[in-house]
Amino acid sequence: MRRGLPRKFPVAGVARTVVVASGKGGVGKSTTAVNLALALAQSEGDERVGILDADIYGPSIPIMMKRHDEPRVNKQNLIVPHVQYGVKCMSMGFLVDASKPIVWRGLMIMSGIQKLLRGVAWGPLDYLIVDMPPGTGDTQLSIAQSIPVDGGDAISFVSFLGGCALRKRPPFSPLEGIPTRMQPPFPFFPRGAVIVTTPQDVALVDARKGAAMFQQTGVPVLGLVQNMSRFVCPGCGRESHIFGRGGAARLAAEMNVDLIGDVPIDPAIQETSDAGLPIVYSQPQSEQVPQSPSVKAVR
Ligand code: ADP
Repeated sequence: MRRGLPRKFPVAGVARTVVVASGKGGVGKSTTAVNLALALAQSEGDERVGILDADIYGPSIPIMMKRHDEPRVNKQNLIVPHVQYGVKCMSMGFLVDASKPIVWRGLMIMSGIQKLLRGVAWGPLDYLIVDMPPGTGDTQLSIAQSIPVDGGDAISFVSFLGGCALRKRPPFSPLEGIPTRMQPPFPFFPRGAVIVTTPQDVALVDARKGAAMFQQTGVPVLGLVQNMSRFVCPGCGRESHIFGRGGAARLAAEMNVDLIGDVPIDPAIQETSDAGLPIVYSQPQSEQVPQSPSVKAVR
């Protein structure tokens, strides 16, 4: 292994990898990941999309995508991902009994995640969305370091939830300045990180750590999504900022990343997720699903 740079291998058959991360649990990371994957799959260009549930402590994809059956294994001994709503999906929850607690130790976590990344017949995919485990510990760092970084456009424009939108970014080379002889000898593929947070200080502190971790490991941060930013009373229309106000915009400015979306608390988001029918798929006309991508949505 070359010194100074972690070894990063592309995931076979996957053109671009986008990780969806949060410092803190329960902020809507999986909800964002699933709806982003579905929006990409439904966007013009018929993108081929997969979602990998790397949150092996608390896999949510089986419930959110309404699949609980065990996947089959092909002749090459690779697990064949389920295809649900046009998206390939894989989760540890398909392989182990989700109702039984498992004590994951450090090495087991990494080998489990490597199995989900490399032991699955993902290809061909235009995008693999990775729903990361919450936090900024060793596991998250190892994942961030083990998927390759790109030197080109990270993602095409897609709007997915509550005004959240990702757009093409100018070419970005995280390896700039690193001597060629020290760069990994294999092709690079686009990737980046979307960080989800709620407006409370406790979530923002952890989101800051997450953004810093990606920036330090050369992973472009595509943007910050502020979830559960406000609640509009269905009776009187009054808006309340239950978890505080303005924090994500300040954090985005401080970290020099884009605030790419602002999603209110909407019972329909929770109900559709729990029913295994994500809102982008089941209620495309909902006010939470942007009807046409608009640059306005990217602040
Ligand atoms: P995480 O992946 O960060 O742990 P989840 O995506 O599992 O969080 O979301 C936690 C819970 O909050 C889920 O029940 C989900 O349906 C709900 N939820 C997420 N975002 C919203 C929202 N904007 N409005 C209402 N409920 C939401």
